Amino acid sequence: MSLQSAALSRVKPSATLAADQKARDLRGQGRDVIGLAAGEPDFDTPDNIKEAAVKAIRDGKTKYTNVDGVPELKEAICAKFQRENGLSYKPAQVNVSPGGKPVIYNAMVATLNPGDEVIIPTPYWVSYPDMVLLAGGEPRFVQTTAETGFKVQPADLEAAITPKTRWVFLNSPSNPSGAAYTKAELRAVADVLLRHPHVWILTDDMYEHLLFDDFEFWTIAQVEPALYDRTLTMNGVSKAYAMTGWRIGYAAGPEALINLMRKVMSQTTSNPCSISQYAAVEALNGTQDFIKPNQKLFQGRRDLVVSMLNQAAGINCPTPEGAFYVYPSCAGLIGKTAPSGNRIASDADFANELLEAEGVAVVHGAAFGLSPFFRISYATANSVLEEACTRIQRFCASVK
Ligand code: PLP
Repeated sequence: MSLQSAALSRVKPSATLAADQKARDLRGQGRDVIGLAAGEPDFDTPDNIKEAAVKAIRDGKTKYTNVDGVPELKEAICAKFQRENGLSYKPAQVNVSPGGKPVIYNAMVATLNPGDEVIIPTPYWVSYPDMVLLAGGEPRFVQTTAETGFKVQPADLEAAITPKTRWVFLNSPSNPSGAAYTKAELRAVADVLLRHPHVWILTDDMYEHLLFDDFEFWTIAQVEPALYDRTLTMNGVSKAYAMTGWRIGYAAGPEALINLMRKVMSQTTSNPCSISQYAAVEALNGTQDFIKPNQKLFQGRRDLVVSMLNQAAGINCPTPEGAFYVYPSCAGLIGKTAPSGNRIASDADFANELLEAEGVAVVHGAAFGLSPFFRISYATANSVLEEACTRIQRFCASVK
C-alpha cells in the first residue's frame, strides 16, 4: 500500500522551489550558477518593521493570539483596504494566515466539495492548481496568449464557467507573467461574473505595490461593488515589504467565508506567528516611503532584462506591467539542437540545457501551464542580471 494519500498523489511539488533547489545543489558542487528561479525581493525587511518585531518580543507578545489575527492587525488591514483600494471591510471580515499561500489554501479547504471546479487562467502561479487538488476540487484552465498580454479574455472565461464552477482566480500583477489588468479589463471580466451569481472570485493582489510606468492598480471588488459579496480580496506583506520569511498573508471578504477559514485554522495551524503579526501592523501603518523607490529600482531591472533578452536569438520577451518576473517565449529555439547535442523539444529542455551549458537557472513555462515560455525572476542586482542575460544570449547563439 502506498504511504502517500490519494489526495496528495494528485499534487506535484512546487516547480519553482525545485528549480531553485537544483541551482543551490549545483552551486554546492562548486558550479558557477546564477539562480533566477526564486520569487523574493533581494532587499532586507525595513528597519522600522524589524524594530516593531523586537518591541513585540520585549513586550511579551509571544503567546497564542486570536486564531485569524490580532485586532490591531485586522484594524490595520481594514485601514489599508480603505486607504489604497477604496474598499470598506470590518475586522470580522478579515483573515490573517501564516502567508498568502495558506490564505488561499484555507479558503479552498473551507469551501470545495469533490467535483467542484476552480477556473485558473494560464500562465498561473504554480501553487493554485495543486492547492485546489489537495482541497478536493478540480482546476479548470483558461489559456491566455502573449498577444493578449497574458490576460484572460471575457469570452474564454464565460465559456469555461459551468454549474460546478465554485471559484474564479484572478492575479494581477501576475506571477509568472507580470501582466496587470487595467480597470477596463477588470470591468469586462466583472461583466461576465455578474451573469454567474454562483461563482466566487479569489483575487490575489500580492504584487499590488510592484507596478511600473505609473500603471494604476485596481482590484475587482472595487471595480464592481456588486461582486463584493462573493469576492475574497487577498494580499500580504511578503513581496511589498520584503517579508517573505515572516509568513503573514491576509484577505478580506464576506464574514461567512472568513468564519469558515477561521474554523480550518482553529484545527490546523492556529494563529500566525504573534511577533510577525505586530511587525505587519508596522508594515501597513508605518512609513510607505520605500515603496516608490523600490518600484523605480525594479522598473530599471525590468527594462534591462527585457531589452537584453530581446537581443537573444529565438527569444521574444514582452514588457510586463508589474511584479518582478518576465515571461519570455522560447518558441524560436524549439526543435533546435543545444551545444550538448540534445534536441530542445520543450521549454523544460530549454531550461535544462541553459542550466547545463551556462549555469543560469530559470523556470520552464510548463510549470505555469503555458508553453513554450520560461520565467525569470529579476529581483537581483543589475550586475547579476547583466551577466545572466549575457549568458542566455550566448546560449541562444550556440543553439543550432
Ligand atoms: N500569490 C502569488 C501570486 C505569489 O507569487 C506568492 C508567492 O510567491 C504568494 C501568493 C504567496 O505568498 P506568501 O509567501 O505570503 O505565502
